[in-house]
Amino acid sequence: MTSKFWSETVRRTEPYVPGEQPDIPDLLKLNTNENPYPPSPMVRDAIQGELNRKLQLYPSPTVEGLRQQIGEYFNLQSKNVFIGNGSDEVLAFSFMAFFSQSKAIRFPAVSYSFYPVYAKLFNIPYKTVSLNRDFTIQPECFFQSEGGVIFPNPNAPTGIFLDLESVRDILESNRDNVVIVDEAYVDFARESAVSLLNDYDNLLVVQTMSKSRSLAGLRIGFALGHPDLIEALTRIKDSFNSYTIDRLAIAGGKAAITDSDYFRDTANKIIRTREWTSRELKKRGFHALPSSANFVFVSHYKHTAEQLYANLKEQHILVRHFSKPGIDNYLRITIGTDAQMQHLMEKLDELIT
Ligand code: PMP
Repeated sequence: MTSKFWSETVRRTEPYVPGEQPDIPDLLKLNTNENPYPPSPMVRDAIQGELNRKLQLYPSPTVEGLRQQIGEYFNLQSKNVFIGNGSDEVLAFSFMAFFSQSKAIRFPAVSYSFYPVYAKLFNIPYKTVSLNRDFTIQPECFFQSEGGVIFPNPNAPTGIFLDLESVRDILESNRDNVVIVDEAYVDFARESAVSLLNDYDNLLVVQTMSKSRSLAGLRIGFALGHPDLIEALTRIKDSFNSYTIDRLAIAGGKAAITDSDYFRDTANKIIRTREWTSRELKKRGFHALPSSANFVFVSHYKHTAEQLYANLKEQHILVRHFSKPGIDNYLRITIGTDAQMQHLMEKLDELIT
């Protein structure tokens, strides 16, 4: 549909469709890679404390305190840190700040489906880069890009991690363009590209508190990079909305960074449950890609992904199915608690006999 009142920009948009968020009481939600554990108790206390303070006043437009804290956590300074309303906002601002309407950017053909949405919204041409048959990324295909590169690491929805040597090669061969490494799931993987920031002023690392820090509901994402890149993001933000991070989010975000033991513990639990889940799914005839994230990407040798998705939904278990050629026979299953994954296996045993 369209309307005569729609601008050119609206006409060319193809909005991203997020995973369903139905309000069904006994639903087991394994479709949007949320953390099954609640945030640290310190986060709750901090938000409650903030409620009694100055909600009638605007929050800090620079978010300096939280930027400093995130900077310290990564051995960086606040001028290396930009904070946005979820990493989706950070990514959107990054497309505006670093990519151009005259040069094609590159991202993997199987990747986060928000990238083409931003590209269309901002009129940025793009080329998708095919993956190997096993869904691994070929780093060479990103060398000498015309207008820049973006990819998730670990990749989504495959969960496959690209080693830092290959990331370094991509950065090295794109010295005049920005390379965005979207590390939404990196805390469930081996290592972050943050360690490469000292060597590469063209690297922007984007992370989120939505997954490993259990704060999807609070909306805090951040970018780490050279101060020039951070300045560009700040200029975009300040041309758009002065206050993207509210007072409760700032208070909760600070507490989440402070209580890093809690987040490490829960991330490790999820990693252990992921390994168990992959083994159990393989026993049941699934092919599971090697995941370094808080989800697994699987297909079954006999049952189609579409059918399994529908059958699981009838059993009040929601997983993610993308009806996109190449991956339409795969399901992305978020890792929950041990008990939740046990429940999934029991239901699968009934469904795939
Ligand atoms: N990047 C990737 C690869 C993701 O899967 C997601 C979650 N949908 C995001 C970024 C955005 O997460 P958030 O906006 O909650 O930080």
